[in-house]
Amino acid sequence: MTKPPMLTAQQALDHLLSHAKPVTEVEKLGMQDALGRVLAQDVESLVDVPPLDNTSMDGYAVRTIDTSTIGSSLKIAQRIPAGSVGIPLEPGTAARIFTGAPIPVGADAVVMQEDCAVEGAPDEVRINTVSTAGQWIRHRGEDLSAGKTALSAGTFLRPQELGVAASAGLTHLQVKRRVRVAAFFTGDELALPGEPLKPGGIYNSNRDTLLACLKSLGCEATDLGIIPDRLDATREALRHASKDHDLIITSGGVSVGEEDHIKPAVTAEGRLDLWQIAIKPGKPLAFGAVRRSDNPAQGECWFIGLPGNPVSSFVTFLLFVRPFILKLQGREAKLPQSYPMRADFDWSKADRRNEFLRVRINQHGGLDLFPNQSSGVLTSASWGDGLIDCPPGWTFKSGDLVQYIPFSALLA
Ligand code: AMP
Ligand code: MG
Repeated sequence: MTKPPMLTAQQALDHLLSHAKPVTEVEKLGMQDALGRVLAQDVESLVDVPPLDNTSMDGYAVRTIDTSTIGSSLKIAQRIPAGSVGIPLEPGTAARIFTGAPIPVGADAVVMQEDCAVEGAPDEVRINTVSTAGQWIRHRGEDLSAGKTALSAGTFLRPQELGVAASAGLTHLQVKRRVRVAAFFTGDELALPGEPLKPGGIYNSNRDTLLACLKSLGCEATDLGIIPDRLDATREALRHASKDHDLIITSGGVSVGEEDHIKPAVTAEGRLDLWQIAIKPGKPLAFGAVRRSDNPAQGECWFIGLPGNPVSSFVTFLLFVRPFILKLQGREAKLPQSYPMRADFDWSKADRRNEFLRVRINQHGGLDLFPNQSSGVLTSASWGDGLIDCPPGWTFKSGDLVQYIPFSALLA
């Protein structure tokens, strides 16, 4: 039997991404329903934001020319609360003004109320400071300009993007339809939590990890359950899943042992590349496509088979499936951003593979290592808040800088 090729993480990712094509179907959704979706077209602002020059402080709108010395006294000629518009400011006067209210014509600065005193005559304010032009003024259009792009196509919509779109005056957004992903989990040893464990059995944890990963990326996830280690059952599950999904992901059964049926099943139902990727955890990864029917016009459904060990399937999902899905969604897809951080432990076990260590940030701003880095110990990923990307052959000493990838950047 020929050994599958050994690829670097980057080579594997480049290969995956060269195939993924963004979904084209678009739907129009109300703002709240668009959370977690991807913008299908640029959003242009309908208005200038803010629409007028306005004050960022409670205080007095003044002319700087009238307040060039400390202690100048001005007549309070008008009062402008937020939501109303004043009248032009006459020389020698001030306007009592409140945060968000438009700056009256003629004023060129705001003095915050803490720097003012109203003593003696109730309609006179003493300005206990020298003001400079423009102070405490938020300028018309400094956030968004009418007719200009406020959000670009391909943007993943988080709460703050919905707010930007609302400030631009929009009620609905054109978004890509959700990417549809089916998942099944191979292994005769697997049982669903809630069921009794038979001898030799373990609970299916990949189901909950991977379905939740899909949901956090905004996918429509279909759970096809546990599939026994049999070729016919695996083929049947693939045929069923290929019909109305963009991608099938599986866990387990991607090695080339005789209980591993993913390779022959996908080969029979479509086409498959099986790779050894020089990473740890997570060496074997299968990539291919499953025919939707005998009619080629129906096209194919992408397939990615992840290893069964819980940490391996989680890490390979984050490194490979996630960017593949991002590309299907029309988002920018690349290996995740890493940041230089200080390791507070020694790492002397150089590995030939690119290793991803489960670590967490300690209160001294360094990284601690979870003591058990076995690919079966999922607690390492839950204790941890990210991964160290440790290149092949690397060792480091406590105090050295390493490349840290936070999980938070990988789950949205
Ligand atoms: P496999 O890739 O099928 O050889 O499985 C590798 C290891 O991962 C074995 O110890 C399996 O029992 C375990 N495993 C496979 N699938 C799952 C799953 N869904 N949940 C938890 N462990 C699993
Ligand atoms: Mg198995």
